[in-house]
Amino acid sequence: MTKQQDTSGSDHFDALIIGAGFAGLYQLHCLRDKLGLNARVLEAGGGVGGTWYWNRYPGARCDTESHGYCFTFSEALYKGWEWSERYPEQPEIVRYINYVADELDLKRHIQFETRVTSAAWDDAAGLWRVETEAGESLSAQFLVTAVGCLSAANVPDIPGRDSFAGEWRHTGNWPHEGVDFTGKRVGLVGTGSTGVQATPVIAEQAAHLTVFQRTPNYSVPARNGPLTPEFKRHVKENAGDIRDTMQNTLSGHPWFPSDRRTHETPADERERLYQEAWERGGLQFRATFQDILVDKQANEVVADFVKRKIEETVKDPETARKLTNFDHAYSTKRPIIDTHYFEAYNRDNVALVDVRSAPIQEITADGIQTADAFYPLDVIVFATGYDGVTGPLLRLDIKGRDGTPLKDVWEAGPKTYLGLQVEGFPNLFTITGPQSPSVLTNMPVAIEQHAEWISDCIAHMRAEGLERIEPQSDAAAAWGQTVNDAANATLLVTAETSWYLGANVPGKPRAFLAYAGGMARYREICADVAAKNYEGFTLA
Ligand code: NAP
Repeated sequence: MTKQQDTSGSDHFDALIIGAGFAGLYQLHCLRDKLGLNARVLEAGGGVGGTWYWNRYPGARCDTESHGYCFTFSEALYKGWEWSERYPEQPEIVRYINYVADELDLKRHIQFETRVTSAAWDDAAGLWRVETEAGESLSAQFLVTAVGCLSAANVPDIPGRDSFAGEWRHTGNWPHEGVDFTGKRVGLVGTGSTGVQATPVIAEQAAHLTVFQRTPNYSVPARNGPLTPEFKRHVKENAGDIRDTMQNTLSGHPWFPSDRRTHETPADERERLYQEAWERGGLQFRATFQDILVDKQANEVVADFVKRKIEETVKDPETARKLTNFDHAYSTKRPIIDTHYFEAYNRDNVALVDVRSAPIQEITADGIQTADAFYPLDVIVFATGYDGVTGPLLRLDIKGRDGTPLKDVWEAGPKTYLGLQVEGFPNLFTITGPQSPSVLTNMPVAIEQHAEWISDCIAHMRAEGLERIEPQSDAAAAWGQTVNDAANATLLVTAETSWYLGANVPGKPRAFLAYAGGMARYREICADVAAKNYEGFTLA
C-alpha cells in the first residue's frame, strides 16, 4: 500500500485502529484484506494480545472454554490451531493470537509501542487527527477503537501506597519476567476473578499470603484439565456447529442455557442437577436453570447451593463465614470459576482479612494497616480490577465535533447508539463499546460481530460515495432506554458493588455498562439496522 499524507503533512490512512488484541487484529483483517483499505493498527504494547499481553499474573487463564475462545470466521484458521487444556492459560492465548497475526500476515501493518494520547475530529477536513506519546501525528477517515473493556487498571489510591518499601504490582500490568514470591510475605488485595485465580498459585510459592477481601464472591470449580484426543477431534469435526451455537446463544459461549425453571423442578431434582453441574464445572453452571438472573427466589436456591459448597470446603468456620457473607445475588457480578481457590484457605500459610468490617487505612513502608491490625508485607498485589468499558476509551482523550471531549458527553454515563458509535463523533467506531453486549458475552464472538458490522458499514459507505456516519439523537436516546430496560429486567442491577455498574471506581457515574438482552438478539438488531439502510444513523 502506498504511503499517503494529508494536507498538514501527517501520515494519512483510510482507517486507524487502536489496539492489537483480538478486536484490532480482526478489524485490520476485515478492512485491509476484505475492503482493500489502507489501514494501520496502533498498539501500546510490544506485541499482539491486548489484555493477554499485559495480564501475566500467576494463574492468568481464560474462563471461556478454549474451543470457544478463538476466532470462528475462518474454518481453516479454527482447525489449524489445537488447544491443550479445557481453559487456555495466558501464554497459550498469546501464542494463539500470534498464530492468527502470522497466518493473516497482520504484523506488518501494526505499529507497536505506540500509545495514542489523543484523537480529535477535524470537521472541516472530515478526518480524525491522532497523536501518539512519541509525538507522531497521524490522520484517518475512520477511527476504530479496539482497546478492550478491561485495560484501564484501577489501582486504589490508598494513603502511603507509594511509600511501600517492597514491590507492589497491579495484575493488569504484570512484568514479563514475573515476580518471585519465594520466601516472601505477600498481600493480595481483591477477590474478583483475578484475585481468585491468583490466590492458590501465589500461595504455593510465597512464605505467607494474606488476602484482603472487601466483598466475598461466589465461585464454581473450573475443573480444568488437558483436552483428550477425542475432544480435539470432536471440535475439528464440529467446527461449524460450534460456531452456530456461539452465534445463536445468549452469552456467545458454545452451549445453550437450559429451559428449566427453578420452581417448576422438585427440590431434590434441583439439587441433583446443581450437583452434576458443580462436578462438570465452568461457567455453564449458571445455565443449569434459565431463571436465576430474573427470579430472586430462583437465585436464592443456587446461591444457597454454592454457599453450602464453600462451607463444606473451608475448614475454619470463621474464614468460611467471611467468604460467604455475600452482599449480592449469585451471578449478578461477573461469575467466577476457580481452581482450588477455597481450598487455599485450608493452608497454614494463607489468611483472609475482611477489609469491609475493618477497612485498609494506609500502606506504610512495611505493610498494610487496617482499622484493627497491621500486616507486615514484602510484596503487595493489587487485583483490584479496572475502570471497565468506558475507562479505556476515556483515557484516549477523544474529542468530537467542536472539540467536545467524550468525557463531557459521558459525564452522567455512556451514551451511544448500539454501543458502536457516539453522536458528535463522526466515523468513530467502538468495538465492544459501552452499551453493547461486550463484557456479558464471550468476547471473541462479540468482537467478530462488531468488526464485521463496521466493515460492512464502511463498504456500504464506499459503494454509495458516502463519507460520514454518526448516530441520530433520537436513535441514541432510544438505544440508551433499551439498554436500561434490558438491565432492569434482570437482577444484574441489584449488585450494588458491581463494576458492571461502575461502582468500583470512585466518582464514576452509576450506569449499567452493557446491553443485557443477549448476544443473539443484539446481532439481530444490528443486522436489522443495516438492512434498513443504517436506520438511526445519519450518512452524508
Ligand atoms: P474485579 O472483579 O473488579 O475485582 C476487584 C476486586 O478488588 C474486588 O474484590 C474489589 O472489591 C477489590 N477492590 C477494589 N478496590 C479495592 C480497595 N480499594 N480496597 C479493597 N479491595 C478493593 O477485578 P478483576 O478480578 O481483575 O476482574 C475484572 C474482570 O476481568 C472480571 O470481572 C472479568 O470480566 C475479567 N477477568 C477475566 C478473567 C478470565 O476470563 N479468566 C480473569 C480475570 C479477570 P469490591 O468487590 O468490594 O469492589
